[in-house]
Amino acid sequence: MKKTVPYVPGEQPLSSDIIKLNTNENPYPPSPDVIKAISQQLNDTLRKYPPPSVESLRKTIGNYYGVHQDQVFIGNGSDEVLAFSFMAFFDPGKPILFPDITYSFYPVYASLFQLDYQTVPLTKNFSIPEDGFYHSEGGVIFPNPNAPTGKYLSLDQIENILKHNPDQVVIIDEAYIDFGGESAVRLIDRYEQLLVIQTLSKSRSLAGLRVGYAIGSQPLIEGLNRIKNSFNSYTIDRLALAGAEASFRDEYYFQETCSKIVNTRKRVVQELEELGFDVLNSKTNFVFITHQKYDAEKLYQELKAKHIFVRYFNQPRINQYLRVSIGTDEEMNRFMKELKHILGN
Ligand SMILES: *Cc1c(COP(=O)(O)O)cnc(C)c1O
Repeated sequence: MKKTVPYVPGEQPLSSDIIKLNTNENPYPPSPDVIKAISQQLNDTLRKYPPPSVESLRKTIGNYYGVHQDQVFIGNGSDEVLAFSFMAFFDPGKPILFPDITYSFYPVYASLFQLDYQTVPLTKNFSIPEDGFYHSEGGVIFPNPNAPTGKYLSLDQIENILKHNPDQVVIIDEAYIDFGGESAVRLIDRYEQLLVIQTLSKSRSLAGLRVGYAIGSQPLIEGLNRIKNSFNSYTIDRLALAGAEASFRDEYYFQETCSKIVNTRKRVVQELEELGFDVLNSKTNFVFITHQKYDAEKLYQELKAKHIFVRYFNQPRINQYLRVSIGTDEEMNRFMKELKHILGN
């Protein structure tokens, strides 16, 4: 039996009276159009396999970003797209670079596929040091904005990294890009080695539907298709396909939920700072916070006792931080109220 060390996702408690701010799910429901589109698929066509090339959704996403459908790859959540990318583009013996503090699935995939990697330390204030990613031997991957820090690199900085890695695949994981950043999709026509990966799980409220995608040059997409078709031709089911397409058609709803979250984040950041927290500058639907006087793990436990779940990472450099997803205004009001109560005691 293979002894891989698996990724540990945030807790998914079953009780309904809890406030769940620990896995960066969207607090708002998916667009009503998505629910309608999925319901319309609940019929006898489910006996048939879904279309393996997912052409209609690739077209929809291609049109949305102004790229050709052959520059789009669809997967069962972006985690699957990431896994296929590690298989397709990285080679044993040539270390991949990613930050020391980042999405914890990267080292898991690297060891699962027996790839070497080196971590690049974030700066003292948790920024990604762009020159740390120059001249990689085996390729580069990081989220922009980074997780769990929430900090964002500008497209100029991304472009500098691309210029210094002309022959290596550079993957930008944009799971949180819709909460205030600018997508690197704009750069794919100039950089054939750039792959941008996004998901419907966060900004489109569809973590339960499992749809992610990659956008890049045709040779990269071709590489991903080779892996997919050697693994599972039907990664996306009929319901997911219908729901995903409907989500891209309801642009108004999408913009509205994203801006609600960004506004709530701004308000919560200010309130947290007033309580004595240091809050990293976030371009995501979560904040990464630390308190001068109050132990993070203890705070995590005390919030949990009040049925409020946030994420604590018992890891070097960040073990005095908590990652708190942005919920609805009501949820954040209760979070702030309990926090004040705990800090006041
Ligand atoms: C949530 C997240 C993902 C995974 O998203 P799925 O599409 O739900 O698999 C990928 N990368 C980062 C950085 C994330 O935070």
